[in-house]
Amino acid sequence: QHVVNRIAAGEIIQRPSNALKELIENSLDAGATTIRITVKEGGLKLLQIQDNGSGIRKDDLPILCERFTTSKIKAFEDLSSLGTYGFRGEALASISHVAHLSVTTKTREETCAWKAAYSDGVMIPVKSGSSDASPIPCAGNDGTVLVVEDLFFNTPQRLKALRSASDEYARIVQVVLSYSIHNAGIGMSCRKASSGPSNATADINTSVGASALDNIGLHYGDAVKRELVEVTAESSDPNVRIKAWCSGANYQGKKGTYLFFINNRLVDCSPLKRALEAFYGTLLAKGTHPFVYLSLDIDPTKIDVNVHPTKKEVGFEDEEEIVQLVCEKLAEKLAEQGE
Ligand code: ADP
Ligand code: MG
Repeated sequence: QHVVNRIAAGEIIQRPSNALKELIENSLDAGATTIRITVKEGGLKLLQIQDNGSGIRKDDLPILCERFTTSKIKAFEDLSSLGTYGFRGEALASISHVAHLSVTTKTREETCAWKAAYSDGVMIPVKSGSSDASPIPCAGNDGTVLVVEDLFFNTPQRLKALRSASDEYARIVQVVLSYSIHNAGIGMSCRKASSGPSNATADINTSVGASALDNIGLHYGDAVKRELVEVTAESSDPNVRIKAWCSGANYQGKKGTYLFFINNRLVDCSPLKRALEAFYGTLLAKGTHPFVYLSLDIDPTKIDVNVHPTKKEVGFEDEEEIVQLVCEKLAEKLAEQGE
């Protein structure tokens, strides 16, 4: 049974950056305004995320890694919905099947923090050698620290499929970077454990109160930031809200940057990417590529439920119309700018 669960978990959590994405969404879901990430060996040795969110109630700790049960979404029909970040109660369960997972958490109401450890979906003793699996009291700030160690230690074939630690770290940085742009205003940092505890040595360190454009500038540079225009639009048919920062005709990216969020989840959306590539293909000098950060809010029931929600590629109804609308609004905006 464990083997089956492990294989299933490996389908959901395919690499460290997938795991981290789920953990970041949980922290955002918990209302965190600061999120601190520490990584060792591309996340394979250590993936630690500390937030100042709501914390987890002590009574909820025993079931934290049970599949489906912890999800805030109770009704079955809501499984088709990506309206909130939390949608299936599968992430922590899956991680506990393929890594060593521990949690230290404190709600505002508690006087101390509680620490718990997990393996294969169930709570296990925090101290090895102990037979008592209950959470143990400890010192801690309001919020949650989640520690994922030795990811894929029990699924060697998954480990083999990965590339170098530096490649995995680059993917992690890309995920953190994307979320820091989309959730500008909160303080997010990401560092290698070896770089020391100071924020100054972090690879990503965004300020509380910064804007999306500030954070784009921080990561991609002022030269990129200067070339961007803001596109916002709303439509009732097809039902969508569009918010974007996109490069104009003078932009000369050596490679394309596409950051897509749909209902606040970082996703891949090939039709959208292809349409934007085609749009910019007629606009940009040969061999140069655009920068696009695009956020779409759509009716959550319109999201294709056949695409597994933890897979990054997302499909949705009215895709063609929405993609077309995005390109139209972008064209309008760039035309205005060119006048
Ligand atoms: P889901 O997010 O789909 O509910 P997860 O496995 O990702 O499932 O998380 C399970 C539950 O654990 C969440 O619903 C939430 O109640 C709780 N949780 C996880 N991470 C945090 C966190 N950082 N802060 C507060 N609660 C958390
Ligand atoms: Mg979650």
